[in-house]
Amino acid sequence: MRVARGPKLLPTPELLAFDREHLWHPYTSMTDPTPVRLVTGAEGARLTLGGEYDGREVVDGMSSWWAAIHGYRHPALDAALVDQAGRFSHVMFGGLTHAPAVDLGRRLVEITPEPLQRVFLADSGSVSVEVALKMVLQVQRGRGRPDRRRMLTVLGGYHGDTFEAMSVTDPVGGMHSMWRGVLPEQVFAPKPPSLDATPEELSQWATTLRHIADQHHHELAGIIVEPLLQGAGGMHPYPLECLAVLRDIADEHDLVLVFDEIATGFGRTGHLFASEVITPDILCLGKALTGGYLTLAAVLTTDRVAHDISASEAGVVMHGPTFMGNPLACAVASASIDLLLAGDWSAQVQRIGDRLSVGLAPLAASPGVRDVRTIGAVGVVQLEREVDVVAATEAALEAGVWLRPFRDLVYTMPPYVISDDELDVLVAGIGAAVAAG
Ligand SMILES: *Cc1c(COP(=O)(O)O)cnc(C)c1O
Repeated sequence: MRVARGPKLLPTPELLAFDREHLWHPYTSMTDPTPVRLVTGAEGARLTLGGEYDGREVVDGMSSWWAAIHGYRHPALDAALVDQAGRFSHVMFGGLTHAPAVDLGRRLVEITPEPLQRVFLADSGSVSVEVALKMVLQVQRGRGRPDRRRMLTVLGGYHGDTFEAMSVTDPVGGMHSMWRGVLPEQVFAPKPPSLDATPEELSQWATTLRHIADQHHHELAGIIVEPLLQGAGGMHPYPLECLAVLRDIADEHDLVLVFDEIATGFGRTGHLFASEVITPDILCLGKALTGGYLTLAAVLTTDRVAHDISASEAGVVMHGPTFMGNPLACAVASASIDLLLAGDWSAQVQRIGDRLSVGLAPLAASPGVRDVRTIGAVGVVQLEREVDVVAATEAALEAGVWLRPFRDLVYTMPPYVISDDELDVLVAGIGAAVAAG
């Protein structure tokens, strides 16, 4: 007989004590950790906190690192997961296939631009970037140019925490000085100009990029950027025109153009994908792909990329994770995409953006604030100093909001289901964090 019961839980004080002694958290010291809060539940756009917060609900301004676009415990996503768990949770993808992977692949091919036809399912965003960069090198080998091994990218980018992904991440953000001799040395161009750039600034950037590409084209294999919005590298939105410049340069020098839409995909910037406007040769998706339920990413490529990889000496993509195409993750991803397309995501994103713009605008006049900006359902307050993350987090929680500021940025990417009232609470929480941090 089966007993439906999860693992036994420790009492809260012991649980938090064990966490502090034994568990690493992201970018956090193990020996001198900053505080963590205990989550005991999550529903809609709210998290329930335990421990000292004793069941208090807070509005989630982070969507669990930009992934939970439909909020927590969405009935359609819960059902997709339970349904698939009732069939099978995982089988290897080598030599086997299954409906959840095929269904997801079909949806991804359908909702992304027409030239992107071939799908590689990867475990996480960083892994998808590794796969994309490996593909770029294999494409150039397939084209008979094994010497083309470097990537062209821009300052201010972020592409993940694994080594090849770090190599195309901003040199400061990616700690290139610490990793000298370890990371491959890529070619960095200036950060794209901001949304309010003048035509002269735009054309200057384009000229610089063309110059760099001309100089390095014999050793360049491809270009990688986050289109429209640089996320974890500094929450920097930039004009679409820049993507057209990159497409031109890629075509002129026969470079493979990779768009990392792990953060921007699935509507966050107001476009379902930035790739709709300018189409890359390779597209990486992650984060919101499963609506924030499970780790999963996808790499989509054109037919030409697939054929060139097949012409390389290996003849195959040299990658195949153990948990490739995990059925639970694929099932919930398909349900998340259906939910997104069935609803009016575009109006939701617009509503959130408008309310954030109006709500955050007064902060521009606050002492210590350098800039306030919004794009799609993203709101950013940039300070003139590094944020005191511990104080800012504490102040936001006091105001009923969960935020995770970094560097000089207090920002939000809320779930699309957030209500207007919750947005008002969120705006007040951002104000409190800015004042305290
Ligand atoms: C988060 C992110 C990644 C890395 O994804 P992980 O799932 O954390 O490995 C890569 N690129 C971009 C643009 C991201 O925002």
